[in-house]
Amino acid sequence: MPELPEVETIARGLAKRVTGDVIDSVWLGQKKEPLKSPASAIAATLEHSRIAAVRRMGKHIVFDLDCVGRTLLSAKGRGPNSGRARSKAPLAQPSSTPHAEADRSVRPTRAQWIVHLGMTGRLQVCEPQSEVVKHTHAILKLSSGRELRFVDPRRFGRLSVAQAGDFDAAGIEPLEADVETFLPLFQGRKTPIKSALLNQNLLRGVGNIYADESLFRAGLRPRRRASTITRDQLGKLLVAVKEVLKEAIALGGSSISDYVNSDGEEGFFQLRHRVYGREGEPCLVCKTPIKRIVIAGRSSHYCPKCQK
Ligand SMILES: [Zn+2]
Repeated sequence: MPELPEVETIARGLAKRVTGDVIDSVWLGQKKEPLKSPASAIAATLEHSRIAAVRRMGKHIVFDLDCVGRTLLSAKGRGPNSGRARSKAPLAQPSSTPHAEADRSVRPTRAQWIVHLGMTGRLQVCEPQSEVVKHTHAILKLSSGRELRFVDPRRFGRLSVAQAGDFDAAGIEPLEADVETFLPLFQGRKTPIKSALLNQNLLRGVGNIYADESLFRAGLRPRRRASTITRDQLGKLLVAVKEVLKEAIALGGSSISDYVNSDGEEGFFQLRHRVYGREGEPCLVCKTPIKRIVIAGRSSHYCPKCQK
């Protein structure tokens, strides 16, 4: 499962490659699971839109779109969910104004394409002649001649569209959090701190590996009740979470699963885990064997001496 640093790396890679490109047409596969919005809405929103930006929100990849010259969200009140055409949305849809001039005065409509990679989803930028691999669920033909493809063997990934600004991932962005926004998330919470860190309604996108690594750096046991952690310790934890995520982003995300970066090539370096996946191995600080326990069904690794 790609975690925040991987998604950040992929979003940055995509931003470099496709920002400014225009989506000429969209092909969507027959499988229902990957489509969180209706196929017709996705096609109608994406086709003829210009990719203004690509960024990460939590573990989502958000494409900000300028739908220039479109009547998708026209004054008639047609929402994105009412689009009819699955494949070819006509460029010029019937307009109430008789003059082409008037069309050009229509302000660009903004929308978003939101991709969640799930367990095995990948976004590939490739040449049209490159083989369409099995489990390809979406192909966007770009004006530059390239294609942007969504491939996902296990189909836990999700594609959806939203009107500009509509999409808002739950929780706060860990890299943008300050102590004032971070502390209240945990105060009074009786759950283990590990569970609280993984709770996507509190923090966006902190997954299992990075939670374990952050708790080690902050000297906190994963099972420790969140409510018993002092203000100073929570401050340390926030610093640790940011450090771990930034290091992993700098390394290009750690490669635990088999997904690839937006070039379609294996591209990630492994963060040197201090506790994650090191059960029984000596702590890098005190040599005590690392312990593994299960909290809410997830493996948690910690040093029984360094973490209290
Ligand atoms: Zn230790």
